Amino acid sequence: MNIPFLDLKQLNKNYEQELVLQLQNVINSGWFIMGNELVEFEKNYATFNNTAHCIGVGNGLDALILSLKALNIGAGDEVIVPSNTYIASWLAVSYVGATVVPVEPRLDTYNIDVTLIEEKITSKTKAIMPVNLYGQAAELEAVMAIANKHNLVVVEDNAQAQGATCKGKLAGSFGDANGTSFYPGKNLGALGDGGAVTTNNEDVAHKIRVLRNYGSQQKYYNEVKGYNSRLDELQAAFLNLKLKNLTTENNERVVIANTYLKQLKNVGDVVLPVLAQGCTSNYHLFVIRTSKRNELQQYLQAQGIGTVIHYPVPPHKQAAYSEYNFTPTDFPIASLIADTCLSLPVFPGMTSQQVNYICTAIKNYYA
Ligand SMILES: *Cc1c(COP(=O)(O)O)cnc(C)c1O
Repeated sequence: MNIPFLDLKQLNKNYEQELVLQLQNVINSGWFIMGNELVEFEKNYATFNNTAHCIGVGNGLDALILSLKALNIGAGDEVIVPSNTYIASWLAVSYVGATVVPVEPRLDTYNIDVTLIEEKITSKTKAIMPVNLYGQAAELEAVMAIANKHNLVVVEDNAQAQGATCKGKLAGSFGDANGTSFYPGKNLGALGDGGAVTTNNEDVAHKIRVLRNYGSQQKYYNEVKGYNSRLDELQAAFLNLKLKNLTTENNERVVIANTYLKQLKNVGDVVLPVLAQGCTSNYHLFVIRTSKRNELQQYLQAQGIGTVIHYPVPPHKQAAYSEYNFTPTDFPIASLIADTCLSLPVFPGMTSQQVNYICTAIKNYYA
């Protein structure tokens, strides 16, 4: 059996005819930037995410950068970030000129360890950026409590966890501003780049609307030095279509993940992902850990099973962050995760035969 890690061609097949109709609608409208499709999507996504506002932007990284900008985070400020994340979280902090202050994750949930945050807070700390990694909401309620106690703002990196919850409340609705991504491989994926900021703060929403559009409310009148980062009409039209199925598709992923959790229990030295108390995951990724990671990956490849490592090199070990002079022994938990993690296939439309085939292959490897 051949099971690719993620087959976007297959995923979008279900939508093909409707996507073509959306394309035709946009062509016929003759309007490609900041039109009705975007307005509609912003309304729809704000409703989905249970936030007062949604502002469509060019991509997930920009959503984080503009969120920090709108909250006046910049040079001289420190932002607490997880040491275990995709580098985009750190890059957003760097791009506004602030300093990243990494905090280690919990080894069981892979999300920021909230018990380690307070010791990193200094007089320069302005914000916390929890990342809802692999699709699981971080312990956002605890993060918010720490932020409120120390008068800090929170920007969630919610690129991966659309629809996940913490204590019954949606990821992407806790922070002062929260960024998400519609990169094609995300749970809500466009056919190109896209992103959004979600917030309940009207002032922040207004600032981001201005910032994403050249710093202008009225064409050719620029109040601030803004950016060009808008979710285009075509992507908004595609997303309006795909958003309708997001909850159904997330639920499909949860069923697949629960099968993995059941079948891979006590298999070899496989460590299964754990949900923090009160937190749920949309299982954007299903990440296991094993000391035999590379060997297992090769074995599965030989059985036709595609897997991916998220992520092989943590941000503190990247050349891009050499200026911080981190040492190889810094952030050992992030390093351990990078050295042992392996993401198994999870995608809507995956059959139980496929999941069973993968579980059997893993059991055979350890037998
Ligand atoms: C995908 C992703 C981003 C960035 O999103 P883009 O749309 O690719 O810019 C940021 N953070 C995390 C955790 C991501 O997975």
